[in-house]
Amino acid sequence: MSEIGEPPVAEGAVLVDALAVGLCGTDFEIALGEYGTAPPGADHLVLGHENLGRVVSAPSGASVAPGDLVVAMVRRADPVPCPACAVGEWDMCRNGLYSEHGIKGLHGFARERWRADPDALVRIDPALTDLGVLLEPASILAKAWEQVERIGRRTFWAPTVAAVTGAGSIGLLAALMGVQRGLAVHVFDRVTTGRKPDLVARLGATYHTNRLSESGVQADILVECTGATAVIVEALSHSPTDSIVCLTGVSPPADPVPVDVAGLSRDAVLRNHVVFGTVNANRRHYEQAVRSLAAAEPDWLRGLISRRVPLEKYPEAFTRQADDVKVVIDL
Ligand code: BGC
Repeated sequence: MSEIGEPPVAEGAVLVDALAVGLCGTDFEIALGEYGTAPPGADHLVLGHENLGRVVSAPSGASVAPGDLVVAMVRRADPVPCPACAVGEWDMCRNGLYSEHGIKGLHGFARERWRADPDALVRIDPALTDLGVLLEPASILAKAWEQVERIGRRTFWAPTVAAVTGAGSIGLLAALMGVQRGLAVHVFDRVTTGRKPDLVARLGATYHTNRLSESGVQADILVECTGATAVIVEALSHSPTDSIVCLTGVSPPADPVPVDVAGLSRDAVLRNHVVFGTVNANRRHYEQAVRSLAAAEPDWLRGLISRRVPLEKYPEAFTRQADDVKVVIDL
């Protein structure tokens, strides 16, 4: 932890008091020095991309006002801009010159106060209170589901069953959105007891600790949220006809494993499989996520937050504990 002074006015016209940041695998990787880039000329990167804050001051007539609960969007468009960024789809940036708060080239939100321009902020319903810190991860899944549905409309599309691999916060939010779409959702995870099976059951979804291939589940949609090689291979090799596999996990470097590429390709061709990756989210997805969180049971959402750690004790947040789902640092 360091003293870094007030956020420079050049960061944006809106001054925000930070309330919380959530941690995800990306933060752990950055903390280990395996990912992430400091802002140009800086010798450090302030962490924290999953965020929640309260507006202290904003220009009159802005889309946010003092007292509003807000979440800042993580990614900023590249300056060129590429054709995707030019239309506000920075999540699909073509040239890789985008920046990301707390990840790539811009400081994050794990500091007591930060600034942003109004167009970088999403206003949260005050009823969501502290749960607003779940908006950023929820935006990732809102995008994933939007893309699944757009791909699904390539043909006759009447999905009934979804599978989710991994019952971390991303997997559980994926499952929530599947249930919200009226699908029968099956969640796969290694953990046999505790918060994860309970949260899945409370959603009305089915929890599995065996392998997808052993479960007999035939999923029209599979949302892969572990990033683990063996699980990905399993997901790619056990997809039914016309199914869609969505990869959301940024896999850590791992030893190569032998894969029957010809078999996978033959199966994908003969069964019209789609496998796609998805990252980040644009404003449309944050707005979809706002609606999804508003429609969810607040107690269920609160159950995703397994630990809240005060800023002074931040190292505890980075010590993984059994039964962690989402760890939040309170600012
Ligand atoms: C963040 C995304 C980001 C991605 C890649 C994820 O952890 O939630 O917003 O685009 O990492 O940097």
